[in-house]
Amino acid sequence: MLSDVKITTENKCSFCKPAICCSYITQEIETPRSKIDFENLLWQVSHDHISIYQEEDGWYLLISGQCQHLLKDGGCGIYETRPNACRDYSNEFCEFDEPAEESFNLLFENYDSLLTYCQNRFKSWSSPI
Ligand code: SF4
Ligand code: SF4
Repeated sequence: MLSDVKITTENKCSFCKPAICCSYITQEIETPRSKIDFENLLWQVSHDHISIYQEEDGWYLLISGQCQHLLKDGGCGIYETRPNACRDYSNEFCEFDEPAEESFNLLFENYDSLLTYCQNRFKSWSSPI
């Protein structure tokens, strides 16, 4: 039973299946301000595997998809030469401990949720741009 095992930084990743931090990428985006900016985000979030979130640091695209180097046992197939983004990610307090969503102020996982936000933010949303 997992509850009987002491989780440490040495063994934590072996319990994290599939490896959460190897299952998506993020890309910072310009803070959207205008209707045209949000129109563009509506287009992007309409696609499979794309979400948009905002946290203290800014706005981001969240693109779900497992890394091609993730091995079946949860290891990294290019561990020695893995990118810096992977090297810099510490498992001392990671998404195994607390979902990333906890730090999001806004999260849009589909067109409808972002459209509702746009309609509330822009009183004249349905008028032509
Ligand atoms: S660093 Fe954290 S989120 Fe990534 S595989 Fe290890 S336990 Fe999972
Ligand atoms: S390169 Fe390795 S550590 Fe980095 S995301 Fe892919 S599997 Fe994970």
